[in-house]
Amino acid sequence: MLNIENIDVNYGAIRALVQVSLEVNEGEIVALIGANGAGKSTTLRSISGLVKPQSGKIIFEGQEIQNFPPHKVVEIGISQVPEGRRVFPLMTVLENLELGAFTRKDRAGIKEDINNIFLRFPRLEERKQQPAGTLSGGEQQMLAIGRALMSKPKLLLMDEPSMGLAPMLVQEIFNIVKEINQTGTTILLVEQNARMALSIAHRAYVLETGSLVMSGLAKELAENEAVQKAYLGH
Ligand code: ATP
Repeated sequence: MLNIENIDVNYGAIRALVQVSLEVNEGEIVALIGANGAGKSTTLRSISGLVKPQSGKIIFEGQEIQNFPPHKVVEIGISQVPEGRRVFPLMTVLENLELGAFTRKDRAGIKEDINNIFLRFPRLEERKQQPAGTLSGGEQQMLAIGRALMSKPKLLLMDEPSMGLAPMLVQEIFNIVKEINQTGTTILLVEQNARMALSIAHRAYVLETGSLVMSGLAKELAENEAVQKAYLGH
């Protein structure tokens, strides 16, 4: 479904990604793990068109997209839940969800999908007229996920969905990620919480200072000694 081929991303003199190649197959949850500053967010931002790679290709369903602007990337079926949630704090919960549907014109379908999101996240329905900035961290994360789903993505990019959440909520968010995948959405998941990410992913890649150093079945990586030492606190 998604193929990244040898991308390089530089921010001025900083080489954030060096010859990164990875693939995501339809139906998978693929985790991208690595330390702070390894280039995980940059990888997602390259796919979503927020950062332009200096070289290499990003291919989605057979089409080269590395030069697409962000709105075009959403139109072809890729949507991102950004790091730190980034909901629009002064707009209501409902308005945030409606914004997520900016590529769509099917009013009835949009309404139905908002209702589905409220079924999945009842707390959002209770607070639908409330400014998003007044929600708790966990609720804002749910809203950011709901907003991304409103464009009906085939591929959902998730940047650190567990960041800053209490342990109980982390479990809840990972259950939601799994459920979204089981209902047909392919997911590329960036996480510092490698243990959780590997527990729900099918496959995973490990990034170290801009380069991929390992990849494989999530189960196998979780049992790998080097991974355990570096990322799982063994
Ligand atoms: P974190 O988990 O801390 O978010 P990350 O793995 O997502 O880290 P990136 O945010 O992709 O890492 O950053 C990769 C490298 O690029 C880092 O060295 C970072 O300082 C640098 N970087 C990221 N964005 C910019 C920018 N806009 N300008 C300059 N350097 C940047």
